[in-house]
Amino acid sequence: MNRGYAGFYKGFYLRSSYEYAYALYLDYHKISWSYETKTYDIGYKIYKPDFFIYDKKGSLLKIVEIKSRNINAKISARKALEKIETLFEIECELLSYEELLGIYKEMPFSLNSVLTHWIKSENTTINKSFSGKLNAHYNLKHTLDAKKKIGEHTRKLWNTDDDVKRKMLEGLRKSGLSQKGKIKTPRVTRRCLICNSEFDVLVTSSQKFCGKVCAGKNAIEIATREYVNKRKFIHEEIKKFVINWSIIHTDVVLSTPFNKISTTINEMTTEIERLYGIKDLRVISKAVFGKDQGRKELLQFMKKVCNEKIC
Ligand SMILES: [Zn+2]
Repeated sequence: MNRGYAGFYKGFYLRSSYEYAYALYLDYHKISWSYETKTYDIGYKIYKPDFFIYDKKGSLLKIVEIKSRNINAKISARKALEKIETLFEIECELLSYEELLGIYKEMPFSLNSVLTHWIKSENTTINKSFSGKLNAHYNLKHTLDAKKKIGEHTRKLWNTDDDVKRKMLEGLRKSGLSQKGKIKTPRVTRRCLICNSEFDVLVTSSQKFCGKVCAGKNAIEIATREYVNKRKFIHEEIKKFVINWSIIHTDVVLSTPFNKISTTINEMTTEIERLYGIKDLRVISKAVFGKDQGRKELLQFMKKVCNEKIC
């Protein structure tokens, strides 16, 4: 097992020298990646794969799991990856020492030199001083202290062996990669609040929807809800106003005959128009009754309010 050689690289807390070697390989080839970004429910357990590989646009290309040469660990990892492939339709790859040797054939420095430097380096022991917090390193932002240690380590790692250092720098320079030690922003998968489909974004992003279409739908929903709420509020206010006005003008309301409604009602609707900008009697009756009613029903309601008040 490589468990003892966990440590930091580019802000990710890697669990083994093999993982470090693979991360270095990806960086050399300028392949975009993140580490332990997402978990998958594969039925019999929750699985957290190691590497997430992205294309240039930031879409997930595949998942890569790095394993020691332990046969049982490999078998259980292969089973989990097959589950992810069938359940989530994501391409998965399992790499171990043999595969790493293969991909390192084209690299300017040897796999063994990379493994050795990772294992010997102080970086692999950082976990001891931060053990509790770092076990939950998922999306964790490093403390200044941890960052400083990572920086110190990186310097040591690159200064120990001149030959390896020269080869590494050569390789990185050739690939245009000069971001060693730079903290990479992890990516996360979110569910769109409108259509519930999954999308990948930088953890720092505030994006809540899968795209412009869903963001637009959401804006319309909010506007509609606000409009409905506002209308409901105004209706309630108008109803309260009609009741209050009736109580204040009890004498007028009770003495108004049903064949001379206009004078009394008009006096009230003028005030409603001034206060709420509404003069349409249908809107006022909708506010009071919840449906279209006439002047007669409105006066009836007002008389009823007055009578109840008197009794
Ligand atoms: Zn959506």
